[in-house]
Amino acid sequence: MAEDRLSDYRKKRKGSRTDEPTGAAKDRRSSSGGGSGSTGGRKHPRFVIQRHDASSLHFDLRLEIGGVLVSWAVPKGPSVDPADKRLAHRTEDHPLDYADYEGRIEEGYGAGTVIVWDTGRYENLTEHDGEAISAEDALAAGHLKVELHGEKLTGAFALTHTKLGGDEASWLLVKVDDHGADRRRNPTSTQNESVLTDRTNADLQE
Ligand code: MN
Repeated sequence: MAEDRLSDYRKKRKGSRTDEPTGAAKDRRSSSGGGSGSTGGRKHPRFVIQRHDASSLHFDLRLEIGGVLVSWAVPKGPSVDPADKRLAHRTEDHPLDYADYEGRIEEGYGAGTVIVWDTGRYENLTEHDGEAISAEDALAAGHLKVELHGEKLTGAFALTHTKLGGDEASWLLVKVDDHGADRRRNPTSTQNESVLTDRTNADLQE
């Protein structure tokens, strides 16, 4: 099933010069030994936020749900101030092994540099009338609350499907006011390095 969910991912990359994961089954198998946690991910699935310096700079938020990385492009990146509403544009599901991807996409779709800006496990906190809801159901219902356990980001974030301006892909990302909230911190401008390799996007530009 995860295979079918990646057909958009593959279609967009046809003919591109890129070293991004292909999303083929063999790629996922080979990555499972690499510590990305395909077995340990059931209870605490993984999230990643990639800083993607493409034609326009943005941050790609990806949540492991149903065997793929469900993805949103966030032009301004996440804010840790609960007063900020950040537009999040739902994009195509990505293969799980994309969570470790850093590199330079030479040309074609998404050309530019990608670093892993933050990553870790997350917990799905979504409830409806006091009942816990699975991440897949929450996604379908258009409201997700997830607690991130990252290096730069901690605490809960709410994702809401707003369909702003009639755009089916339009969501909002807002920090929940909890221990991870901070009105003074601005990690998307002060902490630009990769949490995996300390590299910046500029380092990958060569
Ligand atoms: Mn992107």
